[in-house]
Amino acid sequence: MKSSRPRRKRRRVLRTKTCRLCENKIHVIDFKDVDLIQRYQTEGGRILPRRVTGNCYKHQQLLSAAVKRARVLALVL
Ligand SMILES: [Zn+2]
Repeated sequence: MKSSRPRRKRRRVLRTKTCRLCENKIHVIDFKDVDLIQRYQTEGGRILPRRVTGNCYKHQQLLSAAVKRARVLALVL
């Protein structure tokens, strides 16, 4: 008997990844901007990687710095 395990198709929806922070011309990420920061975090409070969010290098660095600062003040997880 042949194994009838269904093959999983590797299909990915192609999305153009652009840095939304660049699009919105945000040059400073305020650590008090909890809404913005939480958009780039998982539920557990981890920072989403760049390959997920599509952020550029510069903004990812700004973001991680803001997240870490917000964590110190217990604004986010
Ligand atoms: Zn950017």
